[in-house]
Amino acid sequence: MNDTRIEGVGTAITDLDRILIASSAVIPIFGLPDWKYKNLTNVILYPDTFDKEFRFEGENRNILGMVGSGYLNGQMLLSRAALTKGFSNSRGKENTAIHEFVHLLDKSDGATDGIPENLMANEYTIPWLDLMHMEMNRIERGESDINVYALTNESEFFAVAAEYFFEKPEQFQHNHPDIYTHLSRIFRQNPPA
Ligand SMILES: [Zn+2]
Repeated sequence: MNDTRIEGVGTAITDLDRILIASSAVIPIFGLPDWKYKNLTNVILYPDTFDKEFRFEGENRNILGMVGSGYLNGQMLLSRAALTKGFSNSRGKENTAIHEFVHLLDKSDGATDGIPENLMANEYTIPWLDLMHMEMNRIERGESDINVYALTNESEFFAVAAEYFFEKPEQFQHNHPDIYTHLSRIFRQNPPA
């Protein structure tokens, strides 16, 4: 994060913004002491949700955060409302900024595909894919308490499950012991311990 610039669009950056963004960056890599986010040059903070054209006013704004690709490579866009909510007492299983930093970990091997190859041994790739697909089927059948947004694709599954893992670790471990074991191995963390 040392070389990462934090900028506000339509808002000025506060110390609290910096602290919450830094916390979101550190939480997923706390067990990976040598990790550096190489694929991040800017975090761009919007006052609240934004739309696909990055407008933060008007209707149909439903994006809370994103990691840019293409011409937006190296940029993370975040809603301050979502950032703040992720650290409030009413946050539940969600934390948008952690979600976006987990996408960066996933992306560090060149593919945002739910398989963070830099952080998991090859032999776990197939079991992890199988487990993700099994749980996606359960979500589809309404049998899982993982947010349905995880059905979007494997990379969203990974990021959504990671939010839950970090926000409600005991509950996650209890309800999803196998996924917990994989995430614990990936992040080298065991939050309830
Ligand atoms: Zn996402």
